[in-house]
Amino acid sequence: MPKLLTKSNYLLGLQCPKLLWVAKNDKQRIPEPDEITLKKFSEGHIIGELATRVFPKGQNIPDENFKENLENTKKLISKRIPLFEPAFMVDNLYSRADILVPVGEDEWDIVEVKSATKVKDVNIHDVSFQKYTYEKAGLKIRKCFLMHINNQYCLDGQVEPSELFVQTEITEDVEKFSEGIESRIEQMIKIINSNQEPQCKINISCNNPYECPIKSECWEGVPKDSVFDFYRMLKKKCFELYDSGIICLNEVPESVKLNDKQAIQRRLAFDGGKHIDKVQIKNFLNNLKYPIYYLDFETINPVIPKFDGMKPYQRIPFQFSLHIQEEEGGEIKHISFLAEGTSDPRPKFMQALKDNLGEKGSILVYNQSFEKGVMNESATAFPEFREWYDENILPRIKDLWDVFRNFYYYDSEQGGSASIKAVLPVLSDLKYSDLEISKGDLASLEYERVTYGDVGEEERLRVREALERYCELDTLAEVEIVKGLREIEKGEKLNIDHPAQL
Ligand code: SF4
Repeated sequence: MPKLLTKSNYLLGLQCPKLLWVAKNDKQRIPEPDEITLKKFSEGHIIGELATRVFPKGQNIPDENFKENLENTKKLISKRIPLFEPAFMVDNLYSRADILVPVGEDEWDIVEVKSATKVKDVNIHDVSFQKYTYEKAGLKIRKCFLMHINNQYCLDGQVEPSELFVQTEITEDVEKFSEGIESRIEQMIKIINSNQEPQCKINISCNNPYECPIKSECWEGVPKDSVFDFYRMLKKKCFELYDSGIICLNEVPESVKLNDKQAIQRRLAFDGGKHIDKVQIKNFLNNLKYPIYYLDFETINPVIPKFDGMKPYQRIPFQFSLHIQEEEGGEIKHISFLAEGTSDPRPKFMQALKDNLGEKGSILVYNQSFEKGVMNESATAFPEFREWYDENILPRIKDLWDVFRNFYYYDSEQGGSASIKAVLPVLSDLKYSDLEISKGDLASLEYERVTYGDVGEEERLRVREALERYCELDTLAEVEIVKGLREIEKGEKLNIDHPAQL
């Protein structure tokens, strides 16, 4: 049986010939999708089903059996009704449309459904492959559309699919992206039928449009402290250095123009140790007023709004952790909130914050745009919190991230990252890897699963306990980091090497 090139194969082939070859010839090298990816898949199915409701006279073509699906498509195509998931196979090409809509006497529109809120290049390539295949199979294609989520949709009662989605015409873009498609497909068919795996150097496509699933294999030889660790350096520039033979930070010559932060990284790669700007750290710490409220949130952002008045992907806070310290070196009190039940958690969440954030003192967060954005949206939805948020909370928020994204403190062990997960281990013995839930997106996923899914009580309690531990560590991390910075500022931390300004 000849190997078929599907539309997802075509997209892999555009990303990298080696990835395409592995997907067709050595699939076991591609790791199973993780929980987050599986969740995206299942969300995609739900969105796909909702989209079909926009075409009430349409007919679904079940996909259990490959051959039956092709035969049923052949039978139904003459009925001139919208078809969901019809399949076509021609000259070793195989493609299924999300929706094909009949137009006039003998034409069809392609409607590709996506759960994103805008059109991406990868979607246009996807539809280009479909159009090429359907036309080769004898269909006349009139127009192409991407049916994606309308980010202005506001839930009011039942979800209304005709308002949740918008259709953006992409016919012209598809024409443009189709230039040269025939020879690309020919080339890809040669690749998948070859016994020889293509040799590909790592390149900008390894993360574009998606992180390559076999990246760990190809990037195995990239050493620690490589040029890819440069803070916020454009990937294009990283590859220019790498491809010219400059692999490690300590190989970057003075002639290469770097910004201040990247220059610090290069200097530390030669000298070792840390960069510490004591003046800026002191300014930051002096700006913190006791009692300090160390705060962190967790949110979900469902594509289909859950509660009236909400938009797609709008964030719903369901948990916070708060450590309170009345004075420097004083005792730390911990308070947490984790929403119970399936109703909108926002009013209780905001009330719990109001009850516990006091009247004065700094509210310390890590990346303030997130916490501010979530509280601001909640205060808009529940105006009884607006005045309290604007007048009492907003002026008290301080961002611990400033210290690290501005490189007032940088340790080469951070590997070019200023995230709290990179900073915590260099300033304390705490680490996230010991936790069952160790990432924010996994926390959101687990909360949704045990709150809205069909889960036994024991499992629900176990996950809630793990969620409590995870969120608590986020604010305990802030406490530890501030403690570490105070020791550095006072010169009490002994393992300081090469301080920049003392
Ligand atoms: S990691 Fe990069 S080079 Fe390797 S297969 Fe993936 S895209 Fe190709």
